[in-house]
Amino acid sequence: MRRATVAHKPIGSAGRAHVYEGMIRAARLAIVLVVALASACGGGGAANPDAAGASDGAADGAFDAAIDASPGAADARPDAGDCGTPTACAALWEQQASDRYDSLQGDPLALADFLRAVPKGGDLHNHLNGAVYAETYLEWARADGDCINSTTYAAVGASGCSTSTMPAPSSGAFFDAIVRAWSMQDFVAGTQSGHDHFFATFGKYGTIAGLHRDESLADIVTRAYGENQLYIETMFNLGKNTGTLAASLWSGTLTQADLPTLYASLTTNAGFTTAVTSDVNVVNSATTGLATALDCNGLSPPDACGVTVRFIAQVSRTGANDQIFGQLVGAFEMASRTSGIVGVNLSSPEDDTASINNYKLHMAMLDFLYAKYTATGASPLHITLHAGELTAAYLPTGSTANTFHIRDAVEVAHAERIGHGLDVMSETDPTGLLDEMAQKNVLVEVCLSSNDQILEVKGADHPLAQYLAHGVPVALATDDQGVSRSSLAGEYLKAALDQHLDYRQLKTVARQSLEHAFLPGASLWTAVGTAPVAACAPTDTMGVGDPANTACADFLAQSERARMQWELEHRFRVFEQQQ
Ligand SMILES: [Zn+2]
Repeated sequence: MRRATVAHKPIGSAGRAHVYEGMIRAARLAIVLVVALASACGGGGAANPDAAGASDGAADGAFDAAIDASPGAADARPDAGDCGTPTACAALWEQQASDRYDSLQGDPLALADFLRAVPKGGDLHNHLNGAVYAETYLEWARADGDCINSTTYAAVGASGCSTSTMPAPSSGAFFDAIVRAWSMQDFVAGTQSGHDHFFATFGKYGTIAGLHRDESLADIVTRAYGENQLYIETMFNLGKNTGTLAASLWSGTLTQADLPTLYASLTTNAGFTTAVTSDVNVVNSATTGLATALDCNGLSPPDACGVTVRFIAQVSRTGANDQIFGQLVGAFEMASRTSGIVGVNLSSPEDDTASINNYKLHMAMLDFLYAKYTATGASPLHITLHAGELTAAYLPTGSTANTFHIRDAVEVAHAERIGHGLDVMSETDPTGLLDEMAQKNVLVEVCLSSNDQILEVKGADHPLAQYLAHGVPVALATDDQGVSRSSLAGEYLKAALDQHLDYRQLKTVARQSLEHAFLPGASLWTAVGTAPVAACAPTDTMGVGDPANTACADFLAQSERARMQWELEHRFRVFEQQQ
């Protein structure tokens, strides 16, 4: 099947006149086509009502281009015969793609198509519950017989239906209102800020999300495949059993000085091993559940099964401190027992009063556990932290959080990556911090749509240019693409139009996403994008991304990361040669 027809139903007409929104919708258009195709194959995606004009010829052409650029169809290796050595050909084709990118700057719809097909490496900042579109949640809600509160738009299970709820609709004004309540669709700030509307969405559809974890995973993987991604690290709540046990062992205020005592009490408790085992089982069930939902073990697994997924334990920083500490311990313990979980992250609004009041303690917890597990080699868990997702306008009066959160995440909590890092220029000695992040090779997960919608930071106010100028590695990421009604391709489009990144910068962003992925194994690069390791150095018959010679193949066999990086380079070759 080469084409899909998507029913479309525009939502409302009160959308704000944001210049990029239509462009991003256009970018999403073709993604929807891919999702619809996958849905027909059992992928479970829902048609996106934003897909206006889905049946026009340009869309069909874009869809074909996406399929041609997709990994399943990219078997033919570039022919190096006409342009010299593989390295010379690669340089020629890259310039070709760069020229085409430049030529499309005045044609956002064509640029969106181009960027959807660009190989993208990984999405490193992806909240599973926020990644699914409202329409998809509503599809599942209808199948489950769920109801939606007609005033608050909160979903309840079938047993919770009452006179204040209505059955989950499939269309109409109520459907449109739910989509608006569960996302940033048509949002205009008024009595409610974008910040508050965004964070309020999660609780409204949470009941549905909680019952459809594996379908959610299948949904995000299917869409990732459709925009030429290789890898996703997605976040959801993990380590809850260990957290609950820790909470049961502590009463009263928890301070930094108490951490050794609580740690000893937790890890020597008779129920500790059982709690950790239960937490590990959750991770493993998500891995197997995804494979089942996508039918990856069937006779004809969809190509989306080729997208690699790893999990990051998401621990809410607004919870009780003893629970948080237990969950963090659980994350380190889980990672020592299953490769499914690779990282930990503290989530929930960073400008929440509880988050701010406990920030120093949370950093101290991670410092303590880093010494216990990471420094000793007891656990391979990595640390990434939301930090600096702040602006003065949303801080409690008198708070100085925007002067030290990023630095503490890096210097105290050993964060290898920073989520958002939006307020870096308000940190004490921002230049010194930027230089330190570059020197320590700390990557920033940049989420442009989210930053615009939650904190109204975009354009020249966004610090992306400062990070790039200081040599801090960055990757584009989606944060909550369902709530934002974006995609990784949409984030690339924002980077092009709002941040003015050139083609090679976007390519570097994609490469950095795999360089800083929490995958095991050595990097392909000694200098990202310019110098591969000696075993894989270009030869007269092989460039980076071509079929590897024996020495390089041996190297790649030892490293999951390097294999994925090699595949990314191959996809760049294929994509660029087609431009
Ligand atoms: Zn986030």
